[in-house]
Amino acid sequence: MALSRGPVLFFKLLACLLCLFDLSHGKKQFTLKNLPPLRKASSYPTGCPATYDYIVIGGGTAGCPLAATLSLKYKVLLLERGGSPYGNRNVSYMENFHIGLMNMAPDSPAQAFISTDGVINARARVLGGGTCINAGFYSRASSSFIQEVGWDEDLVNKSFPWVEEKIVQWPKIAPWQAALRDGLLQAGVAPFNGYTYDHVSGTKVGGTIFDETGYRHTAADLLAAGDPNNLRVLLHASVHRIVFDSRQGHLKPRAIGVQFTDENGRHHHAFLNNKKDSEIIVSAGAIGTPQLLLLSGIGPKNHLKSHNIPVVLHNKYVGKGMADNPMNSIFIPTRSPPRQSLIETVGITEEGVFIEASSGFGQSSESVHCHHGIMSAEIGQLSTIPPKQRTLEAAQKYAQNKLNLPKEVFHGGFILEKIDGPLSTGHLVLTDTDVRNNPAVTFNYFSHPQDLNRCVYGIKTIERILKTNRFSELSADGNGFSMERVLNMSVQANVNLIPKHTNDTESLEQFCKDTVITIWHYHGGCHVGKVVDQHYRVLGVSGLRVVDGSIFSRSPGTNPQATVMMMGRYMGVKILRERLGRAAGV
Ligand code: FAD
Repeated sequence: MALSRGPVLFFKLLACLLCLFDLSHGKKQFTLKNLPPLRKASSYPTGCPATYDYIVIGGGTAGCPLAATLSLKYKVLLLERGGSPYGNRNVSYMENFHIGLMNMAPDSPAQAFISTDGVINARARVLGGGTCINAGFYSRASSSFIQEVGWDEDLVNKSFPWVEEKIVQWPKIAPWQAALRDGLLQAGVAPFNGYTYDHVSGTKVGGTIFDETGYRHTAADLLAAGDPNNLRVLLHASVHRIVFDSRQGHLKPRAIGVQFTDENGRHHHAFLNNKKDSEIIVSAGAIGTPQLLLLSGIGPKNHLKSHNIPVVLHNKYVGKGMADNPMNSIFIPTRSPPRQSLIETVGITEEGVFIEASSGFGQSSESVHCHHGIMSAEIGQLSTIPPKQRTLEAAQKYAQNKLNLPKEVFHGGFILEKIDGPLSTGHLVLTDTDVRNNPAVTFNYFSHPQDLNRCVYGIKTIERILKTNRFSELSADGNGFSMERVLNMSVQANVNLIPKHTNDTESLEQFCKDTVITIWHYHGGCHVGKVVDQHYRVLGVSGLRVVDGSIFSRSPGTNPQATVMMMGRYMGVKILRERLGRAAGV
C-alpha cells in the first residue's frame, strides 16, 4: 500500500534527523546513538546518595572501553578531567592534528609537558584520551607480546575486533606513505605484508581511526557500546585523591571512594557501594596514574612525606621504570609539496627499529604558516617552556633559526624511526600536590648504549631508503638526497631543549642524542609485580586496580593505541566473568 505524501515526508524528516544524530561517519553497524549523556562535573549533586559498583578514573584510551563494558552489568561512574571531543574541530579533523597539539590553553585537549631530559611532550586531557590527539595509526601488539603479558589469547582475539568494528578503517594510502612503502621494500625491509593490523616483520600498511574524510573516531565512541542506564560520565572531573578506609580490623587499606573537583573548582566526593567486589579502577594514563597513586598516599614514603602526603602504603616502585620510545626524524625536502598524511605505513625491522612517516604540513586554512606538522617546531613552541627557561636569548635564537630556514624546508615530509622496548628508563616524581600540574618525568633517552646503536641502525636504514629510485625521483633535481644536507636540515627543524653540537651531521650517535624527540608512546610507572599484580590489582591495598599504559614495561606493537583500547575491553570482560561466571554473557 502506498503511503500518502504526509507520512512519507515525516519519515524522510525523521530519517534525516537520525542521520544528523549519528556521528559515526561511515561506520555501518555501529552508531553513537547509544552514547550516555556527557555531563559536566558541576552537575553532580552535592551529598549525592548514589554509590557505584565501579568508579573509573580517566575516560581515555583504556578507560572508555573498560567503563562501557562494565556498565553492561554494573553501575559505573566514569570521571574524566577533560571536556567532550565532540564538536571540537582540533580533535575531529586530521588536518588540525598539529593545531590541537599547539593549543596551550588550560582546557586544551592536549596538555604539554617537558621531560627533565629536555624533550617536549604531550598528554591527553579530553574524553577519549590519547585517541583524540594522536596520529591515528592502528596496529596490534605482536603475539609474543600477548604471550609475555600472559593474556588469554582467545579473549584478546575477540577484544581487538570489538574495537575495530566500531572505530578503525583502512586508509586510502597517501602518496608520501606509498613512497615510504616502496622505499622500504627497495631498501630491503621486506616482505610486503599488505594491509594488516598484525605485527609482522617487513613492510605493511596498518589501520587508522581517521575515516576517508579525515574525521577522527575515538575511544569516546566506544562508550556507545555500554548501557547508558548504568553509565554516568562526568566531564571536567579532576580526581585529586583516592579515599581509603584504613580502619583497624581491615587487613589492608581499602579504596572506597574518590575526591574530585568540577570545572568551577568545587569539591565533590563519590563512593563505591559496599559490595565486596566493587572497585576503583585508575585509567589516568602513564603520567596521570602514578601521579594520582602518589597524591593518594601510595608510593615511596620519603617522597610522600616531603610533600606532606599521609602515607597509606609505602611502595618504592610507584613512578619507577618510566620509559619513552625515542624518536628521531629525517626531514626530506621534495620537488612539490606532498599531501598531508600522518602515519599509515610502517617498516618493522628485525633489529627492533620501526620506520614510519608523515607529510604535508599546515595545509588547513586554520593552519600556521611555515609549519612542520607532526614534527613541528610550533608543537614545541617556546610558550611550552617553563617561564624560567624562556629567556630573551632563547626566544631570539628560536625566531632567528626559523627565519633562516630555507622556504623549501616547509615542502616535504619526514621519515621517522622509533626504537622498540628501550632499555633506558627513568622515573616520575611529584613537583607539587596539585593534580592539574605535571609531575616531573625523566626518561633518560639513550642512556643505554644498545638504544643508541639501534637509533644509528634506524638512521642508516632511512639513508638506504633515500638512496632508492623511488625517493631519488622525489628530490628537486631527481638525483637523490645528500645525507649531510638532510641531516643538517633535520637538526635545524628539530626543537627540543637539548644543546646541539657541531658534529651532529658527522656522528650519527651525536645526531641521535641531540635530536631525540618523542613519539608519545611513554609508558610504565606502575609495573606488574612491583605496583600491581597479574590482574592489575594494586599491591598492598584492596578495591583498587590500574588499567592503562602505566602497567606496561614495553609499549605494545609498533604504536600502542590498538592494544590499549583492546586491553580496556579485555579487562572489562575479565572482571565481569570473574564476578558473574557464565552469567556475564560476554
Ligand atoms: P590516555 O588515553 O591518555 O587516558 C588517560 C585519561 O585520563 C585522559 O583522558 C586524561 O584526561 C584522564 N586523566 C588523567 N588524570 C586524571 C585525573 N586525575 N582525573 C580524571 N581524569 C584524569 N598511538 C598509536 O597507536 N598510534 C598513533 O598514531 C599515536 N600517535 C600519538 C600522537 C600523540 C600526539 C600522542 C599524545 C599519542 C600518540 N599515540 C599513538 C599513543 C597513544 O595515543 C597512547 O599511548 C594511548 O592513548 C595512551 O592511553 P592511556 O589509556 O594509557 O592514557
